[in-house]
Parts: sequence; C-alpha cells; structure tokens
Amino acid sequence: MLFDVHSHLDLPQFDPDREKVIERAYEAGVFIVNSGLGPESIERTLRLSRGYDNVFATLGLSPQEFDQGVIDKTIELIRKHRKEIIGIGEVGLDYYWVKDDVMRKKEHKNLGLFRELSIELNLPLVIHSRDAEEDIIQILQDDEIGALLHCFSGSVGQAKNASSFGCLISVPTSVVYSKKKQRMVKELPLECIVLETDAPYLSPQPRTRNEPVNILSSRDMIAKIKGVDECIVEEVTTENAKQFFNLKGNLT
Ligand SMILES: [Zn+2]
Repeated sequence: MLFDVHSHLDLPQFDPDREKVIERAYEAGVFIVNSGLGPESIERTLRLSRGYDNVFATLGLSPQEFDQGVIDKTIELIRKHRKEIIGIGEVGLDYYWVKDDVMRKKEHKNLGLFRELSIELNLPLVIHSRDAEEDIIQILQDDEIGALLHCFSGSVGQAKNASSFGCLISVPTSVVYSKKKQRMVKELPLECIVLETDAPYLSPQPRTRNEPVNILSSRDMIAKIKGVDECIVEEVTTENAKQFFNLKGNLT
C-alpha cells in the first residue's frame, strides 16, 4: 500500500480517462489524496472521494486567490464538509508569483484564516510554499504546528528544522531525476518523508502528464538512495501519511 498525499485529479487534464487513472492506482495499491482548490474544484474533489474507495479529499485555496467572496465560500465549504475530508490544503504562501509586499501581507492574512480553521476543525494542514520556505517554517514553528509541506523545495537544513517540530516533507515524483530532491532524500530520515505526485504536474518523465501510479517510481528511487528494500520505503511513508491524516481506523 502506498500513499500519494497530493494530487489534482479533478483537473481537466484527466477528463478523458479519469476513471482509468484511478483504477490503475487502485490496482497498484495506491491511495490518493486529492487537493481541491477553491469552490468549483472542491465540489469536483468531493465527488471523487465519494465515488472511489481509494480517493480522499483535502480542501484548500491557492495563495494567489485574493477575492474575498471566493475565500469566504471556500471556508464555508470546508466547514460544511468537515466530516468528508482529511485535511485542509493546499494553502500557503507563494512569493514566486506574488512579488508585491501588500499582496504578500494578504497571503499571510489568508493563511492565518486557514490555520485558525484547521485548529477549530481539528484537521491537519497541507502547505504550499514557493520561494517562501523561511517564512512558512517560522510561522509553523511559532504555532508549533506540524504540517505537511507539499512539494518541499527549500534547503536540507530547512527541511530538518521543519521536521524537528513535526512537519512532514513531501517528496514529489520529480525525485526520479532531480538531483536536488535526491540529496534531500539522502539527508532526511524516512520517518519524516511522504510521497506525492502533484499530478498532473511534476511527472517523472518531463513534459508528460503525471498520475498517482507513478509514485511507485519514487518509492524505487528512494529505496535505491537509502540502500533499503522497496517495501521499507512503502511501509514507512504509508505509516507517516496515515498518522498525519488520522487514517488509522479507515483503512483495514
Ligand atoms: Zn498541488
């Protein structure tokens, strides 16, 4: 059993064959966490998690969304569907697309709303951070919140620091070719790593559509880097994901 802790199968890239993609994952023993972003994607994500036993939902919003109506609606939907979801996210900070200081302050404010919501609803946070790792880690550390850092692209030192107060570092399928990701995996204990595809993005074969079953290539690459059997990587990363999302009882 493997866990793809972060994907976007509700996107139109999967319209032609979504069912087959999910079936392929199911047959390979891959559980999928789909991340719904904003009201429409949230509805599509909930339909997927209701329709397939191996699909779970986390609900969030892009940090580049500043429309107050959309933010309010997203929070309302998360509250309404609390019982159907396993986490809040992705939410976070994006300094790559948002350069303006005033807008970055708004990103911080919006992230604060979702942090409060995660505490209120007792749901774990899945964090998106692009070029904002230092600020994100500082915020989480101040609150002592152990979040899942989706597609973490900071330094090894930052990853170690974040894992010291309970964060999980999510390694994308690009670890198959990315030397930076491979170095990160080498330095971190398996106990703080989870696997994700971020499908349809970050494919192990650049310029192709990614899908959850490709998490098997990550598992094999990480086993090679660590010099352990594939089944060890599978067991430990799955256990990490199950603990983080409180899925102990749900999957027997
Ligand atoms: Zn994502």
